[in-house]
Amino acid sequence: MTVQETLSELVAIESVSSRSNSRIVDCLSQRCEALGLCVKRFPYTDESGVEKINLIALAGTKFTESPPEVELALIGHTDTVPYDPIWSDALRLTEREGKLYGRGACDTKAFVAAALTAIELIELKKLRRPLALIFTADEEIGLIGAKRLAEARAIQSRYAIVGEPTSLRPMRAGKGYCLAEIKIKGREAHSAYPRLGSSAVFAAARLIADIERIAAKLESEEHPAFDPSYTTLNVGLVHGGTAKNVIAGECRFTLEWRPIPGQDPKRLLDLLSTAIEEEKTRDPDFVCEVDAARSDEGFETSPDSKIVTMLEELSGRQAGTVAFGTEAAQMTELGADAVVLGPGDIRVAHRTGEFVPIAELEACVKILRQAIEQLCL
Ligand SMILES: [Zn+2]
Repeated sequence: MTVQETLSELVAIESVSSRSNSRIVDCLSQRCEALGLCVKRFPYTDESGVEKINLIALAGTKFTESPPEVELALIGHTDTVPYDPIWSDALRLTEREGKLYGRGACDTKAFVAAALTAIELIELKKLRRPLALIFTADEEIGLIGAKRLAEARAIQSRYAIVGEPTSLRPMRAGKGYCLAEIKIKGREAHSAYPRLGSSAVFAAARLIADIERIAAKLESEEHPAFDPSYTTLNVGLVHGGTAKNVIAGECRFTLEWRPIPGQDPKRLLDLLSTAIEEEKTRDPDFVCEVDAARSDEGFETSPDSKIVTMLEELSGRQAGTVAFGTEAAQMTELGADAVVLGPGDIRVAHRTGEFVPIAELEACVKILRQAIEQLCL
């Protein structure tokens, strides 16, 4: 099968994160078994009771009691973001002017198709160091599949290539992703008698102003490989109060931050609790709860690592950094020097009409084949 045929087959299997990915895993598993790879499923049940499966396929080693150790792992997620029902060709790979359109064509089935094709071009009998393909679930809704594999210590890998659209530029570092919901409690009263109540909206506004000062403070802790070079913060949603003439009894807001690698994701939470303590000292009525929903660290691989220099040479491009979250952090937890690389542009991913340029898809096969040859043969 050509890489385009493989991509077409994968796009045709709907694998939106909310549904089970068992069909696409069946397809990938069959392809790997046909090549003589040793496959193992790591199933789990998601929050909605739906079965999800991570799949690991090994070449040059087998599953035993202890986690397999491989030289190189290629990781691609099986799930996609949802698509607009008016996009009637979302599941039919369509070619136009050198580009292939379809849901997941860019993010990240193109990489998965390229990885399968690259493996098929290798004489696996000649492998001197083992290789793994890792196909994950639920990447798009919080890297959940990869986190499960990392928690289970399912595999150990020296090097990893994480498939995400980077237009084939190797990315050796990425920021983390953290999210908290903050709830401020006040006391409702008639707005004509403010002393009878306590405004949660005013209190939230004071804390948000503190957060803006924290954001400015964090700008001085720089990581020069990133643009912006510091941890960024965002208060994206604020909900408070019930009516214009009622003192607000409650106000909630979201706080999102993207920590630079090397900075503890908890650093911001520490600064936030200090600010909350100060608000409480000033105002005994200040009541606040912080629900830290996500705390994903970033990752960084040394610019001198063999996988970085090798992929720079194979792609002809200098390594960069990404501001979006990837499974590279989990691969780093599993011991790997990780690099993010894949065909397609992240700016068209998740859109109606996402696409991958055919030339990049084919170039990715070549890069992955050469990477396997250099590290594993
Ligand atoms: Zn992706």
